[in-house]
Amino acid sequence: MTHSSPPRVGFISLGCPKALVDSERILTQLRAEGYDIVPDYAGADLVVVNTCGFIDAAVEESLDTIGEALQENGKVIVTGCLGAKGDIVQQSHPQVLAVTGPHALEEVMTAVHKHLPAAHDPYTSLIPPGGIKLTPRHYAYLKISEGCNHRCRFCIIPALRGDLVSRPVGEVLQEAENLVQAGVKELLVVSQDTSAYGVDVKYRTDFWGGRPVKTRFTELAAALGSLDAWVRLHYVYPYPHVDEVIPLMAEGRIVPYLDIPLQHASPKILKSMKRPANSENVLRRIESWRRDCPDITLRSTFIVGFPGETAQDFTELLEFLKVAQLDRVGAFAYSPVEGAAANDLTGHISEDEKQDRLQEFMEVQAEISASKLATKVGQRMTVIVDGQDEHGSITRRQADAPEVDGVVYVEGEFDLPAGEFVEVEITNSDAYDLYARLVD
Ligand code: SF4
Repeated sequence: MTHSSPPRVGFISLGCPKALVDSERILTQLRAEGYDIVPDYAGADLVVVNTCGFIDAAVEESLDTIGEALQENGKVIVTGCLGAKGDIVQQSHPQVLAVTGPHALEEVMTAVHKHLPAAHDPYTSLIPPGGIKLTPRHYAYLKISEGCNHRCRFCIIPALRGDLVSRPVGEVLQEAENLVQAGVKELLVVSQDTSAYGVDVKYRTDFWGGRPVKTRFTELAAALGSLDAWVRLHYVYPYPHVDEVIPLMAEGRIVPYLDIPLQHASPKILKSMKRPANSENVLRRIESWRRDCPDITLRSTFIVGFPGETAQDFTELLEFLKVAQLDRVGAFAYSPVEGAAANDLTGHISEDEKQDRLQEFMEVQAEISASKLATKVGQRMTVIVDGQDEHGSITRRQADAPEVDGVVYVEGEFDLPAGEFVEVEITNSDAYDLYARLVD
């Protein structure tokens, strides 16, 4: 496997505030998928021009800009209102790679994927492979920073993307606000290390709507919580200040859901992975989070079969799982990534052994998950509609992140619009999903 620097997209946005919202959606998606956005033609691998076609002067400006982008860069995708006006663009500039009309996020992204693919690498991607098929309009991944200050031995992010660089909080909040105005109902906050947000800029004060806001995790969460959308935090490293967002969850301002990648529970393996966390502390923290916010859903990911993991270390991991009773868990069998420091460790585990451990781990968690979900039967709750399949509607609770967690099936209901919130009563459960009926 080879890793090169991320693909770079130049973006030019012309036109009215509505066009700006389209630009925001496209930029958000590009960022979440790992594309770099660059400010000039020369540094870009491809340029997207969002055009305006409202009056003649705007048509001319748009055509000139496309011409300039073609001359300076050569690879150009055109979107926006001018694209909807017959084949003006193709006639003037037959070299453009693709032309779409306005509000065409899916088509623009398909064209970008075709002409400038971003390799999906499970070790570096922040959004699940399903996310590549494009997030529905009612939820969006909001990327708040790039890079990471940790040096976990299995990870090559810092080598690829460098140290943490936080986006200015005013810019992030403006993007979030625009997304919500454009109809997004759920914001998924992502980065390599969400709770470290702002460390690199010493929590600098920035402005949003004229008000000062610190570039810091808690302040960002509180500000996002003032928007009319579900706000879900992913990749939250359990630093002490993470406790500060639990009251926001208890008050219903952000979704009571924490995705904390713990990776292991044996202190020896955590040390060898170069993870600072300590599992006893983590258990105490979990207990206090649940005390302060009984509805909290905890999700985590783990690596099994890390080099040097003995049967004893693995047992410790299973014990931790049984005590922690996490709601959602993802796990991977360790596999070496080119360039990762862990490759030089001794004690690599055989592939068969890794797969056996992974299976045992998943069986233990499946039981925990099934018994936790069984307690939901009979409860009423609000769910968000994601879409339909042949049996009815697919929805999610606040406890379910899209694409990585389970869902709530509302069978026999085919007309619920995606992005709507509806009330249901849970009627059944299995290991990962719930079944419900609509209530008035
Ligand atoms: S915290 Fe560790 S695993 Fe996560 S991006 Fe940073 S170095 Fe990689």
